[in-house]
Amino acid sequence: MSTSDNCIFCKIASGAIPSKKVYEDDELFAFHDIKPWAPVHFLIIPKMHIPSMAQVGPEHGSLLGRMMVLAAQLALEQGCNPYPEGGFRIVVNTGTEGGQEVHHLHFHVIGGARPWLKG
Ligand code: AMP
Ligand code: ZN
Repeated sequence: MSTSDNCIFCKIASGAIPSKKVYEDDELFAFHDIKPWAPVHFLIIPKMHIPSMAQVGPEHGSLLGRMMVLAAQLALEQGCNPYPEGGFRIVVNTGTEGGQEVHHLHFHVIGGARPWLKG
C-alpha cells in the first residue's frame, strides 16, 4: 500500500492518529469530519495515498466507483434523510483554488436537516 509519511489522512487510515471511524475495508476508510458543517459530515478516503482528483487515471476507475457507491450507502446509515426530500452532497475539493487543505484524496459526504454551517 503506498502511503506518505507526512500525510495526516494516511495516519488516520492506518490508525496511527485516532478518528471517529464510520467504515473500513481493504481499500477504503471513512470517518467523521472533525469540524462538521452539517448534522451528517464524514469523509471517505482510499487507504492508498493519492494526493487529489488531479492525480487519478483510468487505473483508479473501480476505486472511485467504490467510493461513490459507498458514499450513498453510508449517507443513509449515518442519518441523511431519504431522497428526494432528504439527500446528501458529495464534495471533492481539488487543489488550492479548489479549496483543498488536506492533500490526500477525500470525498466529503454532507447531509441532514438544514440549516448547515456551510454549503
Ligand atoms: P479539504 O478542505 O477538502 O481538504 O477538507 C479537509 C477536511 O478534513 C476538513 O473539513 C477538516 O475539518 C477535516 N479534517 C482535518 N483534520 C482532521 C482530523 N484529524 N479528523 C477528521 N477530520 C479532519
Ligand atoms: Zn495520504
